[in-house]
Amino acid sequence: PVSPQAYRPAAKLLDLGPDLWDPVRAADFPQTVLRYRNDRAAAEVGLSDLTDDEWLRHFGRFEPLPGTLPEPLALRYHGHQFRVYNPDIGDGRGFTFAQMHDASERLMDLGTKGSGQTPYSRFGDGRLTLKGGVREILATEMLEALNVPTSRTLSLIETGEALERGDEPSPTRSAVMVRLSHGHIRIGTFQRLAYYQDEANMRRLVDYVLRELYREEPGEEPALRLLDFVIDRTARLAARYMAAGFVHGVLNSDNINVIGESFDYGPWRFAPSWDVQFTAAYFDHAGLYAFGRQPEAIHWDLFQLAGSLRLLTESDPLIALLEQFGPRFQGYVAEALLWRLGLKPRGEAEDRALVQSLERALRDSGVELHRFFHDAFARPLPERYGEDWSEFRTLAAAYESRKRRGAFFDGEPCGMLIDEVEAIWAPIAETDDWSRLHAKVEQVRAMGEALR
Ligand code: AMP
Ligand code: MG
Ligand code: MG
Repeated sequence: PVSPQAYRPAAKLLDLGPDLWDPVRAADFPQTVLRYRNDRAAAEVGLSDLTDDEWLRHFGRFEPLPGTLPEPLALRYHGHQFRVYNPDIGDGRGFTFAQMHDASERLMDLGTKGSGQTPYSRFGDGRLTLKGGVREILATEMLEALNVPTSRTLSLIETGEALERGDEPSPTRSAVMVRLSHGHIRIGTFQRLAYYQDEANMRRLVDYVLRELYREEPGEEPALRLLDFVIDRTARLAARYMAAGFVHGVLNSDNINVIGESFDYGPWRFAPSWDVQFTAAYFDHAGLYAFGRQPEAIHWDLFQLAGSLRLLTESDPLIALLEQFGPRFQGYVAEALLWRLGLKPRGEAEDRALVQSLERALRDSGVELHRFFHDAFARPLPERYGEDWSEFRTLAAAYESRKRRGAFFDGEPCGMLIDEVEAIWAPIAETDDWSRLHAKVEQVRAMGEALR
């Protein structure tokens, strides 16, 4: 249980200036029915005392929260989508509704999804399907349990509209979601300012991200300092995706939060096995964002950030920083895989050897990833993986280490394959049986506790 944190509202986006956003209004929904309220996350920003009625008014009707933004702001940004530059995007179905400080004084945004149309909706309806909201709850809870930095799903409210989405069943139910994340500044936010050669706002944005989101002084070369932090945090994010077996699906530069926190979940999947070619989005025909290509995709996006920062500084030191991505990613992968096994790092060479043999074992055996990691600390491994013990010696050590710490997880292997999401969603859609979703969230959280 999280001890409730005091509510400390902020409105820093107003200081950042009106060139970064547009004031907008939420859609007037026919109804607001509370489907999910994340009191664990709410407690961390002082919002857990709201009654359900107040919750619906703030997170379904968007009545402003005291002391924070007076009206919702749709953020402006550009981005590369599947490597093609698009200057026509921006918050098309969401906005920043409020800002507040978390326990470590970092700025936290309350952002929406499905709250209505904005100047950036283009041909879209500004809406979210209820099913999409359920998928985002499951992704964020699973990633949080697996130690992947992620936005949190704070609220899901059904809104009573019928949406046409061109898939079955049609029409489908609608919802509005609220997420909590450390800012909504994306690589694409920087790309837009570079596109307009807007040096003054670029300086302001760099300062904002360093001071409010990283809690760091800008120093003498703020642009380099910023790129250094973003490279480090996104290298860690890419590594944690790999160790979690997670495939985000759409790693466009507008979907990369410069704080290195995963967000904007669409067609995500968990890879069934260590298959580097496994692709999540049905429209990703070339496999650009396949499981094993995620680090490369994020590195590519970082090149776009570095290119944007040329507005403020020289190229050479930016390029030198980009070269740090690979080694940092390797270090973080080792750390993340050891964490999943419950092992402490022992030194770079030894850790690298262990991780290489683990990756080879996972790839060659084709073992189901969630079962594998579950068994690695829940049951004696030789029993499970038979005679060829050599590849799994690392796991034997992991098993012993977990046993010593008494850290066992008694539950079922906790997967989150598309079938499992469907198995949770289908009864909800038909019978409104929300207990399946709540039971799954509890199971995922129990796994997360056992891993810690
Ligand atoms: P995404 O693929 O979720 O990162 O979205 C890319 C762009 O499309 C962003 O500008 C979104 O705000 C916008 N968008 C996605 N879905 C919708 C929708 N249903 N209505 C309006 N805009 C949308
Ligand atoms: Mg997006
Ligand atoms: Mg999206």
